[in-house]
Amino acid sequence: MSTDLGATLSFVTTGTKLCADAVAGLDEAGFAAPSALPGWTRKHLVTHLAANAEALLRLLHWATTGERTPMYSSPEQRNADIEAGAQRPGTDLARWFTTSAARLDEALTAMPADAWAAEVVTAQGRTVPASEIPWMRAREVLVHAVDLATGVTFADLPDAFLSALGDEIRAKRAAAGEQVDGLVGSLPAVTAHLAGRGTSGVTTQDGAPARAPSPWL
Ligand code: ZN
Repeated sequence: MSTDLGATLSFVTTGTKLCADAVAGLDEAGFAAPSALPGWTRKHLVTHLAANAEALLRLLHWATTGERTPMYSSPEQRNADIEAGAQRPGTDLARWFTTSAARLDEALTAMPADAWAAEVVTAQGRTVPASEIPWMRAREVLVHAVDLATGVTFADLPDAFLSALGDEIRAKRAAAGEQVDGLVGSLPAVTAHLAGRGTSGVTTQDGAPARAPSPWL
């Protein structure tokens, strides 16, 4: 991502607060209710967010020490851990989210400047410099703040984040041969559309409703 580190770290802070606030008022029934992601309750999603913070802590450890510590031991283990988390009380999961996010924040702040260039491998198998890690986290906390389905929308996310996210998804979708140009709508609406999260308020240039793209993230 071309967005600078300070701005990206502030996206992480904003997204973490949006997620924490979103789950703060939930009772057990609220935690057990569906998220916006197919097949996942809010408990699944909060578990995923907490486990993601720990996975990114492993990548920071890898970058600073050179010891290979992957995000997850396997995709099966990652999924099994999310299922197990979804059985726990919601308040435990909310606390896990907060403490893991605070540890990640501390580790990001403490990163030695020369460690950002160290290469690590993501869960998708991409080799990236550690400087991508804050962006990976920003994307998770800001987009999933909406997916928690407690009322946060793309219009609540920072414009600079929406622009950067839209650019990234456009490039990925274009590389996959999908049509992503000529969308008409507000920045939040077009970005939500590109992210596969609703087509409302988005049309093609001739005014026809935009077709929903394939799922993303
Ligand atoms: Zn995610």
